[in-house]
Amino acid sequence: MSVFVSCQNPPNPLFKGEFFAGSPFKRGQGGFRHACGIFFIAACFALSSCMPWVAVTTKTAGPIGGTSDGVVVNACEMPSEGEGYAFYHKRDRRYGSEALTGLVERVSKKVMMQYPDSILKVGDLSGKGGGKITGHSSHRTGLDVDLAFFVRNPARSYTGDFLLALHDPNGVAVVDKEVGLFDMEKNWAVVEALLTDTETQVQWIFVSKGLKARLLAYALHRQKDLSVIEQAAAVLHQPGDSAIHNDHFHIRIYCPDVETSPACAQRKPIWPWVKPSHSNSEKHLPSDDALVHLALEGL
Ligand SMILES: [Zn+2]
Repeated sequence: MSVFVSCQNPPNPLFKGEFFAGSPFKRGQGGFRHACGIFFIAACFALSSCMPWVAVTTKTAGPIGGTSDGVVVNACEMPSEGEGYAFYHKRDRRYGSEALTGLVERVSKKVMMQYPDSILKVGDLSGKGGGKITGHSSHRTGLDVDLAFFVRNPARSYTGDFLLALHDPNGVAVVDKEVGLFDMEKNWAVVEALLTDTETQVQWIFVSKGLKARLLAYALHRQKDLSVIEQAAAVLHQPGDSAIHNDHFHIRIYCPDVETSPACAQRKPIWPWVKPSHSNSEKHLPSDDALVHLALEGL
């Protein structure tokens, strides 16, 4: 089974030669430039402040650099809705690495098979070409995606929407004086589908400490697969440097295969169960000199 089934935007066959992506380290720079690479390189050397360049070929796809300073080349664009999922923003941020878009498709299908009335609400991936997008410090390389929580509405009469509602540590959300409950069963199904995916490895699922504790307690009580619970205990995490994520999950996957994404900068941790081919294990971004060398090789 291929991981690339979801890709709507394969590498452009019209590019016959080399083209060049700007350094992912240059703040605010996204997208890629083509054909005139030699002139960009010449200009680059003429300007002392210019950042290095990395050669990008028609075979290159996926992330370049890190999730908070990189870009994504030849990303896949997801349809605004599909089997078991729908985007909750009308934004042009449905671009991701093939590993990520495939994961979202497979997870939503899997959850829908368990709960046929369920639609997984999907938020931002990356913008076209990646780079900085408003409202996020990461989401730049097609490796991040936001997923809304499933919320139960015990009142039933309430027709409002608990999408992105803030949940307290007990999993309670209040919107317009109505109460919604973090749906333990379906949200665990999402976590389980993410962690048991056979194609894509998940590094983080950012979520608040309180909701993490409740998810783990639920899974233990329901005697779910212990190996999945063990992984979830590591991967579910309240970040210390951004929002606590008590209104949605933020999923981050590992760099895809090193051969297709040679310039993807993989940050630690590499969990013990992660296969090296999915993690660019222990790989570090090339030095500036190496990037210039790569660029010159492409001329
Ligand atoms: Zn996010």
